[in-house]
Amino acid sequence: MYIDAHQHFWRYNPDEYGWIDDSMASLRRDFLPFDLQPELQQNGFEGCVAVQVRQSLEETRWLLELADAAPFIVGVVGWVDLRSPQLRSELERFATNSKLVGVRHIVQSEPDDRFLLNREFLVGVAMLEEFDLAYDVLIYPRHLPVALEFARKLPGQRFVLDHLAKPAIKQGDLRRWAAAIRDLASLPNVVCKLSGLVTEADWRSWNSDQIRPCLDVAFECFGPDRLMIGSDWPVCTLAASYSRLIEVVTDYLKPFSSEIRDAVMGRNAQRFWRLQS
Ligand SMILES: [Zn+2]
Repeated sequence: MYIDAHQHFWRYNPDEYGWIDDSMASLRRDFLPFDLQPELQQNGFEGCVAVQVRQSLEETRWLLELADAAPFIVGVVGWVDLRSPQLRSELERFATNSKLVGVRHIVQSEPDDRFLLNREFLVGVAMLEEFDLAYDVLIYPRHLPVALEFARKLPGQRFVLDHLAKPAIKQGDLRRWAAAIRDLASLPNVVCKLSGLVTEADWRSWNSDQIRPCLDVAFECFGPDRLMIGSDWPVCTLAASYSRLIEVVTDYLKPFSSEIRDAVMGRNAQRFWRLQS
């Protein structure tokens, strides 16, 4: 079963989606399951994992509702306030829904570069293990050393790095990023999504030769059993169509065995999030 391990849905309004600036004007509309379904089908995906955008409990509830109505949404990565004293009761409320498979916080936008090591936050993330929830790490390359310290503190917790920590493909210097990825990948409790890369390149002029070095680093550091393909739809449409973006990874996977291709295209995601299909 092929699974798109990372995509988003929203009903657009300028108040809640203020981060969608003029350069991303094409994202200023609704993106709902029936918009995604044909893209998944055309590319051989039977399921997807919807990832939170808004930082509210309402976002988590809404995504779970969408997943109830659309069986191809096989998992939801929601948001809960990991620093809240009420965290346990919030998690208990969601625990009955088996489609909630993980939690994410928009750490890349926090003003404190060491946010992941904030004491209340660590206490919250430590509670996820008890509820069998993974944690999605959304950061920039400068946060990678902090993420290493963070994931090392919680060796029993499952982590997935979003978008390879957004390597600066457009700027072109990937050496420090690659070294930091190697360090983080040395921890067995961290896996990684092959997603969001085209939007880190020049949206108009990118080509797959600019993306492949990042995929090389991912395969070298994490190995094929800890990587999962994700589209980052609809954000990816700023730089590429859904099919074009998926093709970058499927082309890269061509020389590999069918077993490795199946792992990256779905089996790793199923195993990591214990998805029920
Ligand atoms: Zn995303």
